[in-house]
Amino acid sequence: ALPVPQGPEEVRELTVEFNRLLHSLKQQVVRDNQFVSDASHELRTPLTAIRGHVALLQRHGKAHPELFADSLAVIDDESQKMQQLIESLLALSRMENAQMSVAAYDLVAQVKRVVSRYQQQTPQTLKVIVPDRMMVQANAEAIEHTLLALLSNARKYAPANSVVTIQITKGGQRALLSVADLGPGIPDAEKAKIFDRFYRVDESRSKAIKGTGLGLAIAKQLTTLSGGELSVVDNVPQGSRFMVHLPLAVSENL
Ligand code: ADP
Repeated sequence: ALPVPQGPEEVRELTVEFNRLLHSLKQQVVRDNQFVSDASHELRTPLTAIRGHVALLQRHGKAHPELFADSLAVIDDESQKMQQLIESLLALSRMENAQMSVAAYDLVAQVKRVVSRYQQQTPQTLKVIVPDRMMVQANAEAIEHTLLALLSNARKYAPANSVVTIQITKGGQRALLSVADLGPGIPDAEKAKIFDRFYRVDESRSKAIKGTGLGLAIAKQLTTLSGGELSVVDNVPQGSRFMVHLPLAVSENL
């Protein structure tokens, strides 16, 4: 409960505090509304395509059975898109307000494990540069999900078979896990925006590449809740370098 103000100065302080709270609540409501409207829009697009093809088949399917294959392929594709989107939205909403538990673990062992498993399913040239071990204080599941999202983006946006470099280094009091690719890179003006929900760089360019624009928003939230930070810089000589900063475990500082 709020303390009962004792004098005019305390009334003034409480009023200031109250206005600040009101302002941040209002901002949250605006953000929530925007999110619901963005999500609805993103779900409506595939749904419109599905309904269009269903109508087409209902009207002309009997006379033109050759339409079935194409239409069903579109319906299958678009419904998969919807499913992916719904799953991502549910993941985001579960994380909202979530408290993530953190524990000390070896980031190097984790990265090696995730990379070797990933490598079995996807032919992508991964170069791993890591020390013997690095103890971090984080949520292992969140970091694994983030790493997989970054690897999958590198595969999607960089040329097939170009090298992706995964590196772990120590900087100050933090561990740095980076994923660097030789793809098109991300223009400076877009670097902050790609972590926003539904944001995709140059819709026309990324249209050919499947995606929801939610992957990095989820990864960012996961990293932040896990006590870390996710950001992107230009890679040298080209492409982008995504960086996950994590707090070191206490034992690492001894
Ligand atoms: P999605 O890949 O589903 O569109 P993300 O949130 O993972 O969504 O990424 C947002 C956008 O950031 C992508 O649409 C793409 O334009 C850009 N992006 C992400 N990763 C890379 C990368 N490695 N290289 C170039 N652009 C990227």
